[in-house]
Amino acid sequence: MLHEFIHGQERHMAVCHSYLYGYGRLYTRAQERLLSPKRYQVPSSLLKAMEWVFLKSKLDKLLLQLQAQLTAPKKKYKYFTESEVEGLNHEFVLLLDKARGIAGIPFKINSGFRTKEHNKAVGGVKNSAHLGGLAIDANAKGGSDIYIIVYACMQVGIKRIGINWDKHFVHIDVDYSKPTPTIYKY
Ligand SMILES: [Zn+2]
Repeated sequence: MLHEFIHGQERHMAVCHSYLYGYGRLYTRAQERLLSPKRYQVPSSLLKAMEWVFLKSKLDKLLLQLQAQLTAPKKKYKYFTESEVEGLNHEFVLLLDKARGIAGIPFKINSGFRTKEHNKAVGGVKNSAHLGGLAIDANAKGGSDIYIIVYACMQVGIKRIGINWDKHFVHIDVDYSKPTPTIYKY
């Protein structure tokens, strides 16, 4: 019995050894392959295939970017962000956008749509066109900016302008329930 048992164990050991030896050889061969590419040259067709895969992944990335650009929501206005003109009448902003293009200088809006409370706080008149989203105040550094902004607004048909010479801004207004046309000063 004992003899058989020992013999069995020896056989197990022998099998394990041969396995280990086999793995060892495989491992060594794999290492050789990695370390000496000259001996095991990668076929050029495989290289070409790899290049193609690399190129394809780049193309796929570009295609995804293009798709994202095409499906992204279109910008409503050329010169104004949505937040800049929040609450303002859409047709009015389209006119402003056109005027801004003609002017070629920024229309920096220092006051756009106002709530009743906001209008009160900034000392606006009770029936201000800002309340209806029909007016903006655009910064103007001096007489030159004022001229350019006013002239551009006139060209797109805006008929109500206010000029604040002290604080240097132009009030642009399309509330035609008020006297039209007019240019007034603050
Ligand atoms: Zn104003």
